Amino acid sequence: MHTRIFLFCLIPLAAFAQTRAPASSIDKSAMNTAVDPCTDFYQYACGNWTASHPLPADRSRYGRFNELQEHNEHTLLDILQGAEAKSNRTGLDQMIGDFYASCMDTATLAKKGLAPLKPELDRIAAMKDMAGIAAEAAHLQRIGVGVLFNFGAQPDPKDSNRTIAGFVPGGLSLPDRDYYLKTDPKSVETRQHYVQHLKNTFQLAGDNPGAASIKAAMVLDFETILAKHSLDRVSMRDPNKTYNMEPRSFLAEKWAGFPWDAYFKAAGAPAFETLNVAYPDGLNNLETELGTQPVDTWQAYFTYRLLHSAANMLAQPFEDEDFDFWQRYLTGAKEPRPRNMRCVAATDVALGDLLGQKYIQLAFGADAKAQITTLVEGLERAMGDDINTLPWMTDATKAAAIVKLKAITNNVGYPKKWRDYSKVTIAADDYLGNVERAAEVMTGQRIEKIGHPTDKTEWTMTPPTVNAFYSPQNNSINFPAGILQPPFFDPRRDMAVNYGGIGAVIGHEMTHGFDDQGRKFDAAGNLRDWWTPQDGAEFEKRVSCVADEYSGFTTVDDVKLNGRLTLGENTADNGGLRISYLAMEDALKLNPSGKIDGFTPEQRFFLGFAQVWCENVTPQAARNLAATNPHSPGRFRANGTLQNMPEFQNAFACKPPAPMVRPNACRVW
Ligand SMILES: [Zn+2]
Repeated sequence: MHTRIFLFCLIPLAAFAQTRAPASSIDKSAMNTAVDPCTDFYQYACGNWTASHPLPADRSRYGRFNELQEHNEHTLLDILQGAEAKSNRTGLDQMIGDFYASCMDTATLAKKGLAPLKPELDRIAAMKDMAGIAAEAAHLQRIGVGVLFNFGAQPDPKDSNRTIAGFVPGGLSLPDRDYYLKTDPKSVETRQHYVQHLKNTFQLAGDNPGAASIKAAMVLDFETILAKHSLDRVSMRDPNKTYNMEPRSFLAEKWAGFPWDAYFKAAGAPAFETLNVAYPDGLNNLETELGTQPVDTWQAYFTYRLLHSAANMLAQPFEDEDFDFWQRYLTGAKEPRPRNMRCVAATDVALGDLLGQKYIQLAFGADAKAQITTLVEGLERAMGDDINTLPWMTDATKAAAIVKLKAITNNVGYPKKWRDYSKVTIAADDYLGNVERAAEVMTGQRIEKIGHPTDKTEWTMTPPTVNAFYSPQNNSINFPAGILQPPFFDPRRDMAVNYGGIGAVIGHEMTHGFDDQGRKFDAAGNLRDWWTPQDGAEFEKRVSCVADEYSGFTTVDDVKLNGRLTLGENTADNGGLRISYLAMEDALKLNPSGKIDGFTPEQRFFLGFAQVWCENVTPQAARNLAATNPHSPGRFRANGTLQNMPEFQNAFACKPPAPMVRPNACRVW
């Protein structure tokens, strides 16, 4: 899943006024009131939920987000089964109905075995030299198999209106470069399991044990070279570090033996003169380390990347082997998700804007869009007031910040334009082919954008997604229909809980425009420093407080969070919850509310916020997430945010030295 970002939203005042006094919408059954809220608010708000929701066997992490996601998946399942049931399906129904049917048809998949992959495997086996390798790399990337590096279209960081070519390290199988490079016992053990899995996979594909062992070692060695030439995740978050415009000839200067021009042509790239190279130093010595590898090493690497990406589209043994390492060992899940749910997810990935059109007809109305838009506007007002009263920022930077805030585009529910799938052919008996053809058309559409004006209306999430995102280069906040529901939002319920839920999400996304990454882009989405040096230094001091705070949290065993990896998200939580709180206080002036279920509006706000984060997670997944996820685990998103907030401490009468009162509270916005 890609990086998740969280959202926010506000409830319209009119809706609140009409719906006074309901049962509080906090989930009292989730709470463990035996815990002192000033000691561990997450346990107080979520203790009974986590105790009464042991992880399902098919999950490595399960929380309130996943509950909502499941709800959405069932809506999508109904849509897909409805389309599949039509005897003469045409148009959109044919596309999504046949795709879903092809995924569910395990009898055909079992009968075909490895056969659907044979043409691709033959192409890899036919590679003889670097020309063949480059052509095959481009082909695999086009059909959605990530190999070697990522080459494609991106907005120019310093001129967001134009789309340029970009080159980013890639091609790894394990979740992060550290998995290849670290020498602690756990990392060594993981690589041993990985090599065994590689060997098993090659044997399933027809190799004898000896050959499979050799290929397994080749793949690990090859990927370790790629890992050494990759940039760490914290550095990848720094847009100045990853901005390096180079002439097209730069790549050939670094690696003369790779036929770059032929590769770009095979990748479908239009003509271009310059490209952004995210990590130029990563190309140093690549020619001597990769360029000298024998062809059979390249073949082993490409073959595994293909088998792994296709495992769920082949016969059961491939799927089982893939699950055994990637899920059971690496995440701690005990069994796969039900096939129909995986097929729903696969349809969303391949044909998300088709499925999304059906979804919003059922799950999202113009009325909801208008209500959320009103909420967003209320939060923007609160953020404007917040910026204007910041004690540490000079007037010049404040004025620029307000310009940026006012320039934010709000997108609610679904994108302005749907993707075009008219060139994708979907057949009911060809699951692998469907996935490859859809990926090829989508990849082609993206790469053709090089050299053209940027389409700033594009979304990186599909409408049913339970998430939200801020785009620094579009300066937009985006809220898919999938998240605009309980536990985040319900226009009929207590407003305080809505502000704690979707309000905090909206504030979070808005604050992303001003976190350690977002602040480096201006109102037009260009990488440009609009801060006075003094304000920049003050900002860095404040985010360092947040980084140190989260680096102190232990997630599992001896694994601590990386406060620099999670800095943008934690900063967005830190500012976003405050902004939503301010917006709620404004709303309460117009529509006062007393206690409900024994809790004040402020208490319900913080309970609503914390209860969004109730979750259980396996130790294996906690370890992986700490290494790779820019978001902190739920309990730290709740407690780490609240222990900095005097408003929270007032609401629950928490006093030092209670753990929920942090002595040196961090506040950025
Ligand atoms: Zn975020």
